[in-house]
Amino acid sequence: MFDTLQDRLQSAFKNLRGKGRLSEADIDATAREIRVALLDADVAVPVVRDFIARIKERATGSEVSGALNPAQQVIKIVNEELVGILGGETRRIRFAKNPPTVIMLAGLQGAGKTTLAGKLGRWLKEQGKSPMLVAADLQRPNAVTQLQVVGEQAGVTVFAPEAGNGVGDPVKVARDAISEATRTLHDVVVVDTAGRLGIDAELMKQASDIRDAVQPDEVLFVIDAMIGQDAVQTAEAFLEGVDFTGVVLSKLDGDARGGAALSVRSVTGRPIMFASTGEKLTDFDVFHPDRMASRILD
Ligand code: GDP
Repeated sequence: MFDTLQDRLQSAFKNLRGKGRLSEADIDATAREIRVALLDADVAVPVVRDFIARIKERATGSEVSGALNPAQQVIKIVNEELVGILGGETRRIRFAKNPPTVIMLAGLQGAGKTTLAGKLGRWLKEQGKSPMLVAADLQRPNAVTQLQVVGEQAGVTVFAPEAGNGVGDPVKVARDAISEATRTLHDVVVVDTAGRLGIDAELMKQASDIRDAVQPDEVLFVIDAMIGQDAVQTAEAFLEGVDFTGVVLSKLDGDARGGAALSVRSVTGRPIMFASTGEKLTDFDVFHPDRMASRILD
């Protein structure tokens, strides 16, 4: 995913190698290269601006001393700042004290919500939970069937409206599912919701109605990491529409530039909680900011 960014950052650092001391001009030149590398990777402009300002300040400041050579010090600072924009600490799911924990998924159509429901179901089972997936996407033809298929692959119960694909009231389905989960002792409910190709008011209203009806413990906004500069606007619209509590980056296996991954936390203030890296149910993991930063700088 970050191959180009990785190469560009390495070449920015290369010019610092072998230098005994960094002049302001060295730092400026490196900062400029990092800036262009990030912008080319589609990282949002304000995020890049703040990032570069902090790098410059720290690289010229008093902390440049000690055992590391100047190039190593700059790499260390960039690493720490990358961890910072990716969210710092790993943020885990907050399970409800009184089960079931309700996790609602939101995002554009094609972002990877239904696939994620299966991945989350499998992962939750591995954590010793007894999850139930809920088909509250009654918009997209076949969404219910698709959820049933991933549920079966994951070995997880799926609650679907009796009428099947495309009919019924998603708010009622979500509400009924929680009663059913309580009755059948499922301790986590994952609610898949409808997406559209673009942001629209009706979609947002439906998602927010479901949110109000089921009072989820977590609302996960699923975003395709390949959508480039559109990521910021999409994330802001969903933040306003459903006030999500965490982000899931999907399609991190793609070869696009990955700016969404680096912008979405800073822009929304919400933590990235999971990453999806392929179509298989196992292509999924908890998101660790420090590991991602190391991968980018490796
Ligand atoms: P939804 O409309 O948000 O429910 O999106 P889907 O779950 O149906 O996913 C849309 C397409 O993206 C499907 O073809 C999925 O197989 C694919 N997909 C989902 N997650 C990933 C991922 O992490 N990597 C890749 N390469 N494809 C994915």
